[in-house]
Amino acid sequence: MVLARQRGWLLEDVDGNTYADHVSAWGSAPLRGSSRVADAMDACERSLGMQNTAYTISEPVVELAERIVEISPEGLTRVAYSLSGTLAVEGSIKLAREATGRPMILGFLGQYHGESTYLTAGSSTDLAEVTTQHAQFAPGLVFIPYPNAYRAPFHRGAGPFDDTATLDYLEDWVLVHQVEPGEIAGVLIEPVLGEGGIIAPSPAFWERLQAMCRRWGWKLILDEVQTGLGRCGTMFAAERYGIRPDLMLLGKGFSGGGQPIGAILGTEEIMARSTLALGGTFAWTPPSAAGALANIDAILDTGALENVMLMERTALDVLGPLVRDVEHVGDVRASGAYIGVEFVQDKISIRPAPAFHRAVHRAALRRGVLGLTQWGKWVYRLQPPLDMPIDLFHWSCEQVAEAVRETASDPPPEPALLIDRERAS
Ligand code: PMP
Repeated sequence: MVLARQRGWLLEDVDGNTYADHVSAWGSAPLRGSSRVADAMDACERSLGMQNTAYTISEPVVELAERIVEISPEGLTRVAYSLSGTLAVEGSIKLAREATGRPMILGFLGQYHGESTYLTAGSSTDLAEVTTQHAQFAPGLVFIPYPNAYRAPFHRGAGPFDDTATLDYLEDWVLVHQVEPGEIAGVLIEPVLGEGGIIAPSPAFWERLQAMCRRWGWKLILDEVQTGLGRCGTMFAAERYGIRPDLMLLGKGFSGGGQPIGAILGTEEIMARSTLALGGTFAWTPPSAAGALANIDAILDTGALENVMLMERTALDVLGPLVRDVEHVGDVRASGAYIGVEFVQDKISIRPAPAFHRAVHRAALRRGVLGLTQWGKWVYRLQPPLDMPIDLFHWSCEQVAEAVRETASDPPPEPALLIDRERAS
């Protein structure tokens, strides 16, 4: 598909086909119904233009720094410039190591953090063959499974399971046999697993993980690159799930769909005395900062957060019944406008169904909905702009439900093992 234009919440390709936009530039364009970000950037482009913020600071940069700290979770009083999500995550790992003098980072299988060499090894959504190419050059990482109440690695069949079992594994196995707790600098975690399939851990998980962080002195690094700026119905997922991070990372939606920009928010203890250089030439150019600033106000002024919660309810109402009606639908999950439909070969084995997933994506496209899919995955995602009118969103969910039913009437063959998934493509 080659895009020709975007009109509000619709995307048009060069052949004249129109699609409801459930991609939002992969979560980077929170609002499609407002020109405030573009207007602010245009004006700033004319008044200040490109500046190297690490050397010559400017007004929009100072204002953005103050504003983002003001609305961030309690305890996060400092912000460092960044250019993208990847660079924000990289910077946070450096900060956690600097603050603690410890080498190791604890991550979770299924997460995604970016495409640098280190994060390709640290992002376990990549194929093993890709990860291993880079992992041998990226020491200092240890992984446990992401908490998942539906699909838990030590259980057979479908949940709901107690998702804190992964912390039993950490305490009883990893910390005993693999890595000393006092060697861990930070815990890198997405508040809701995104690329790994829209999974929101339980309150019990967060409580116990945070207690472990306090006990062992681990810095809690919350990757809000995709959840931040309203995606989950609160400005940050940390608010919705009662998480108190030591470091919080922003990218994607922080830009307001404008120019690339990211941020590392952190505590006084970690950031006040840091000697690290975390920015770079293009980090926080004045127009990107002006756009990000306008975006924060626009999200708060336009009732986008309330709309997100309405979309969550609508998605669960329209797509939720598929779990009862269709053998291939294992689970439907939503955290605000972050919505996933998990496809399985059957409800007993819950073997993943990537071929079914691909077929649903194509059927939804034919019905005018562009959702998020990736090769080899089996969770279809709807990630609309936060301000999509609820009628259009409701219609889109109905199209996806129809696409699922159509695919279920003649399901494609699936690979026997997930590692054979290329055969299903
Ligand atoms: N963290 C998360 C949770 C992400 O989803 C992504 C991108 N999908 C990144 C980090 C990397 O961000 P970027 O593509 O801006 O480098």
